[in-house]
Amino acid sequence: MDTPTDAMCENTDRAEAIHPVARRTIPIADCRHASVVPKQASKPARLVVDRMGRPLQDLRISVTDRCNFRCTYCMPKEVFGKEHAFLAHRDLLSFKEITRAARAFIDLGVRKIRLTGGEPLLRKSLERLVAMLHTLRTPDGHPPELTMTTNGSILARKAQTLKDAGLDRVTVSLDALDDAVFRRMNDVDFPVAEVLRGIETAQAVGLGPVKVNMVVKRGTNDAQILPMVERFRGTGIVLRCIEYMDAGNSNGWCMNEVLPSQEVVDRIHRHHPLHPLEAHRPGETAQRWAFDDGSVEIGVLSSVSRAFCGTCSRARLSMEGKLYLCLFASHGHDLRALLRDSPQAGRDPVSDAQLRAALAQLWSRRVDRYSELRAVQASGAWPSERKVEMSYIGG
Ligand code: SAM
Ligand code: SF4
Ligand code: SF4
Repeated sequence: MDTPTDAMCENTDRAEAIHPVARRTIPIADCRHASVVPKQASKPARLVVDRMGRPLQDLRISVTDRCNFRCTYCMPKEVFGKEHAFLAHRDLLSFKEITRAARAFIDLGVRKIRLTGGEPLLRKSLERLVAMLHTLRTPDGHPPELTMTTNGSILARKAQTLKDAGLDRVTVSLDALDDAVFRRMNDVDFPVAEVLRGIETAQAVGLGPVKVNMVVKRGTNDAQILPMVERFRGTGIVLRCIEYMDAGNSNGWCMNEVLPSQEVVDRIHRHHPLHPLEAHRPGETAQRWAFDDGSVEIGVLSSVSRAFCGTCSRARLSMEGKLYLCLFASHGHDLRALLRDSPQAGRDPVSDAQLRAALAQLWSRRVDRYSELRAVQASGAWPSERKVEMSYIGG
């Protein structure tokens, strides 16, 4: 594995002495400055590919920048405190604007839409958006796959309504089974039992197969890997262990806290033998493993130790309509300016054809491959820009 040496922290004190990011006191980047998207009337390209030949297949839509958790690796309290200014409601894309953008993405090849946040279930009447997205059809007449990533805190209450509105599946984030460890990591003293109830309800109402995302931080919750495996094994719920990533600018990330996925697999394999499974499709983020006894599969996401940029087909739309072409991007492209009329600025919304053409043009110019370049960037050979925050763009 490439190890970015100057991002290593031998111990926290030293890291805090030398690394401003590790002090966790830097205000987040204002990622709201977006480049202007050109209005073009040219014919839209269907099924666009980027400069590296990667098709546009997945769309993640972040519906809010707010969250009721303060996970230490995502929205640390020191940065996202009481005084933090979240976006005003008028700045968010409306459900109608989101649906219109989603339709254009589907016309260009997107087949899977994931709702995320912040905490997506905090967006009022989200089931209305789900119902609107559920009416969309691909050019060959199929509905796109509709999923959501949630912290599960109010899922038990919402699962049935979401299912009725047309949501296909949920992924629930849960970092530990041990209540004390979980409460420390979400940093708002939220009990694990309520998230487990959300997972069980989601499974019961048919939002499955339910996936559980566990961000693994060495020394914080890596002792929870086996209990998590044993809790979900044989339940039909797919556990996915995610390498702790250097997303955003706030979490004080350092390489020593990353537990490489290979080590996760080795640890599980020692107790419950595993064998690798084929990917369901190219561009799948998780490497899949199955228990030798056939009970169920698990996944590992190795964004740090084994980048998967070569097959990355994901576009990300922020709650205020900025399009990001990479999870680690510094700049978004302003789609809201295309979607919303602005009489003051003498601006009308563009036509569907113009919107598709603009999106196709942006995707066709895409060269992003941050994870592959991470080692170079960390060693200082590449200019380091402030990245978009994970809670803003949704993971
Ligand atoms: N609030 C929802 C949740 O937690 O599921 C959705 C948004 S959250 C930003 C999306 C995913 O990103 C979650 O599974 C979360 O665990 C993951 N995540 C956040 N920060 C991360 C980091 N630094 N490294 C790896 N995964 C991270
Ligand atoms: Fe909130 Fe999800 Fe970030 Fe945790 S990971 S702080 S639940 S947005
Ligand atoms: Fe995709 Fe960017 Fe992640 Fe690479 S670093 S896999 S390009 S989102």
